[in-house]
Amino acid sequence: MQARNLNDGNLDLHDLVAKNQFGTFFGVSQQTFDTVWDNLTGKDQNSVVYISMEIGADPDVFHPIKDRLMDLEKTDSMDSRIKKFIKKIFTGPEKIPCYGGGLGVLAGDTLKSFADCRLPVVAVSLLYRHGYFSQIVDSKIGQISQSVAWNPEETPGLYLLQDPKNPGQALQIEIPFFNEFDQETLITAQVWMKMEVNHTLDYFVPELLLDFSLADNPTPIKNAAGRLYNSESSIIKATQRRMLGSGILPVLQAMGISSHTLHLNEQHGVVVALQLIAEELATLLKNSDLCQASNEQIITAADKVARRLVYTIHTPVKAGHDRFDKSEYAGISHRSCRHILDLLAYDEDSPHSYNFTTLAMRVNRTANSVSRLHRDVTHKQFPDFAKKITAITNGVHHLTWISDERAELFDNFPELNNWRRDPGVLKNVDKLKSNTRFRTYLLRAWEEDTKILYKYVNNMLLQHRNQMTSTWIDPPNHYSNIIDFDTKLDPKVFTVGFARRFSTYKRADLIFDNIDKLCSIAVSNNWPINLLFSGKAHPADEPGKTVIKLILDYQQELHTKSNGLVNLIFIPNYDMHIAKMMVAGVHIWLNSPKRPLEASGTSGMKAALNGVPNLSIMDGWWVEGYHEGQTGWKFGYEGSIDEADLSESPEALLYAEDSASFYATLPLVLEEFYENDEKSRFIDKAIMNLILNVPIFNTHRMAAEYLQKYQLKLPARLQSEMDGFGKLYNSNE
Ligand SMILES: *Cc1c(COP(=O)(O)O)cnc(C)c1O
Repeated sequence: MQARNLNDGNLDLHDLVAKNQFGTFFGVSQQTFDTVWDNLTGKDQNSVVYISMEIGADPDVFHPIKDRLMDLEKTDSMDSRIKKFIKKIFTGPEKIPCYGGGLGVLAGDTLKSFADCRLPVVAVSLLYRHGYFSQIVDSKIGQISQSVAWNPEETPGLYLLQDPKNPGQALQIEIPFFNEFDQETLITAQVWMKMEVNHTLDYFVPELLLDFSLADNPTPIKNAAGRLYNSESSIIKATQRRMLGSGILPVLQAMGISSHTLHLNEQHGVVVALQLIAEELATLLKNSDLCQASNEQIITAADKVARRLVYTIHTPVKAGHDRFDKSEYAGISHRSCRHILDLLAYDEDSPHSYNFTTLAMRVNRTANSVSRLHRDVTHKQFPDFAKKITAITNGVHHLTWISDERAELFDNFPELNNWRRDPGVLKNVDKLKSNTRFRTYLLRAWEEDTKILYKYVNNMLLQHRNQMTSTWIDPPNHYSNIIDFDTKLDPKVFTVGFARRFSTYKRADLIFDNIDKLCSIAVSNNWPINLLFSGKAHPADEPGKTVIKLILDYQQELHTKSNGLVNLIFIPNYDMHIAKMMVAGVHIWLNSPKRPLEASGTSGMKAALNGVPNLSIMDGWWVEGYHEGQTGWKFGYEGSIDEADLSESPEALLYAEDSASFYATLPLVLEEFYENDEKSRFIDKAIMNLILNVPIFNTHRMAAEYLQKYQLKLPARLQSEMDGFGKLYNSNE
């Protein structure tokens, strides 16, 4: 998205080059670079380290530097170094496949907002040489996972940091690992930096990505380093967590970063707490054997460390909580850690396991859930810690997720001036509610985005058919056999979007519980429906993969029973780019999880930011974003929640009840879509989403709420701007 309201044109590209002892970087001025660095390395420790197993921030959905370059006159006077940077930006790969889903995309969105808001934050994560996995789909087989070939060296915006002491060499950090005999092996990581540059190119948040895929590291380390969420064995999983957690302090030290506060985005990196506790104990015990520490000393040390940690818990689903078998974990940790873990990582369900979620819950100064409902559930799951668990409802980065068409619309109305800097401005759409020009343009922007999406889908369907001869892959979609020059999917047809990870609790197949019923709604009213589905199942998640296969298997039946009125299409290899097209192009965003297992959900917010209404179970953020008759529709169970509702077992998933409620609601939606001139009722809903939901469900507001937990001292002007974002909403009401 282009930053059109900037003073373009007279930018000297030399002003976008910055250097320090770790390398030469492109995208911000030296002055900006130094400001960021000074903030992070200051003696006052006035900054935050944001720790996440995954970060999703693909350049193909948000790349302010590239946008800016496209606006510039080309100059011949560029030196060769600048030419090299620019060439990479325009020809290098535009994806960094080190994310698996919502958690990573949230991390990326959060960091982008931190950069927009100029907050002193640095992120730490891992770099996975084989990414997550890429998904191929075959109608007979279902999901096929393939490893991703990507090349960090070629990827714009990624920099391999240099060692200040050895010019020309990559910076390496060393981290002690232990085997079951407590023998120490030093393993090494090199450090990549991705700059999350803000939309005005005058601030950035560095992401330090630790890369353990080095030839000299032991094989088990290399195995654990290659692929995000590699779960071939629980040891690999535990090792991956440990690489993140125990890499943090060494990398901060190597770079002179002094942050007091560490924010754990989910518990994956919590081993950093263990290390900090060990450091405290070493001081307390004056360096005598840590194994001598008493329970009281460990608790004292943990309480001290807790003052530095902020923890966000992201799911009530137990599979999302890290637990490791004690005897297995002994194989990768030092004896002295075991005593600490015995005390702080107890697992209520199993005396033989360490529970790292409990550890994170225990050792922090403040913890938060990701929506109000999730807070209430988390209170029940962790009654001992309920007092300190508050809600900070997730958001999404508005500059990433608002489509170019919609952005252009907002630019054209002075009432919405400054919306890029302050998404709260969208509440002023209230003044444009009955402005015919605004309504017409909004409808047109929506139609344009729908066309863009359909162009992609129709091309894809044809391509799948054509590729069959060379790849032997059966086209995933039945429609690939139907599509023709004059039989294509029609963007005027009511289009439902559903895309997210395929986990059973998300119930992608809920609305197909009664296919006859679904088809009869379409047929009896002559209302055609296109259902666009996308998403990956973790390669080891067999039930999740089964749901994908079911979706493929339903296609033909739906088509036939509805006389061709209902078409279900699966878009393979879901990523941020597909997400962005879908959330802006569809007519409604479907969300059908088993309440209360979707702690927040963010894809629905991305739709809402484009004015696209949601049709959703009352779970996660929708409990807060749903306004009856205004922002969308709800369906399904919304009663009280007890322990049994947290079950993911198939009999507990309430298919019959919730799908019946869906079939009762769907006709109301279709009627509003098809039986109104100029889509007026849908435009009303779009407008109410802009007014009510954009100002709240964005990461600027979320950043303002996190800031209240970060204990940072900020310049008065910045603090008051953040207070402005924050006062639009109080998640914890
Ligand atoms: C937003 C997003 C998600 C998360 O969607 P949920 O609704 O939270 O499940 C997952 N994957 C991608 C690529 C996304 O853009």
